[in-house]
Amino acid sequence: MIIGRVVLGKPLSCAVMHFGVEGVPQASGKNEMRKGIEELEQHSGDSGWIEVITGSMFSGKSEELIRRLRRAQIARQKVQIFKPAIDLRYSDQHIISHSEMKIASQSVKSANEILAAVEIDTNVVGIDEGQFFDQDLVRVANILADQGKRVIVAGLDMDYLGRPFEPMPLLLAIAEDITKTRAICVRCGSPATYTQRLIASRERVVVGAADAYEARCRGCFDPHLSEKAGD
Ligand code: ADP
Ligand code: ZN
Repeated sequence: MIIGRVVLGKPLSCAVMHFGVEGVPQASGKNEMRKGIEELEQHSGDSGWIEVITGSMFSGKSEELIRRLRRAQIARQKVQIFKPAIDLRYSDQHIISHSEMKIASQSVKSANEILAAVEIDTNVVGIDEGQFFDQDLVRVANILADQGKRVIVAGLDMDYLGRPFEPMPLLLAIAEDITKTRAICVRCGSPATYTQRLIASRERVVVGAADAYEARCRGCFDPHLSEKAGD
C-alpha cells in the first residue's frame, strides 16, 4: 500500500489514510503518487534519475516495481531488471511478488555486476531487494542515472530489529523520487511499517517469506521476538 511520495524534497501528497468497505486502510495518495511518477516518465532530456520504492515486507514494493517496469516495456523502452543472487526464493529468472505478479530478471552477485551488465542503449534499470546489495549500489545507481538512465530500486527500509537497512538509507538520500509503501498489520489491522521476524536468528540476512516474517505496525512490532522464538 502506497502512502506518500516526495520529489526533490517537496511533498507531493499527504499520507491521508481512509478505510475501505472491508475496513482495510487505503491510501488516498495512490493516484497522486502515480501522477507524479507519470510526470517523471514523460520527462524528456538527457538526464536520468533515481526512484526508490521502500517499506516493510509485504507492503507491495515488488508489485509497484513490476508495474513501473511493465509500463516502460509497453512503451518499448529498453528495460533491464536485476535482483541479488542471494534471493532465489521463488525463481532465479524472475522477480515474483507475494501476490504472484512476475517479471523476467537477471540474478547478480554484486552491484558492480549490474554496472557491467547494463547496455548502452538501456533506458530503464530496475533493481529489486536493494538491501541485499553492498554499498557499491549507491555509486552504481549514481553512475547509471548520470548516463541518462531511469534507475528504479525497491528494497526494505528496515531490518528485523527496525534498524535502517544499508544501503537503502543512502539511496533514499540521493534519490530524486521516493515511494514509501505500507502493509497491513496482521495483529491489529493498522498500517504496518515493520517486518516482524518469527523465527529464532540473530543473522541480519535470513531469506524467507510468510514462513519467517509478517508485517506489523509499530505497536505490535517486537524486535526481541526473534530471540525468544523457539525457546
Ligand atoms: P514486498 O515486495 O513489499 O514484500 P510484494 O509486492 O511482494 O511486497 O507483495 C505485496 C502483496 O503481499 C500484497 O498485494 C498482498 O497480496 C500480499 N500480502 C501478504 N501479507 C500482507 C499484509 N500483511 N499486508 C498487505 N499485503 C500483504
Ligand atoms: Zn498492529
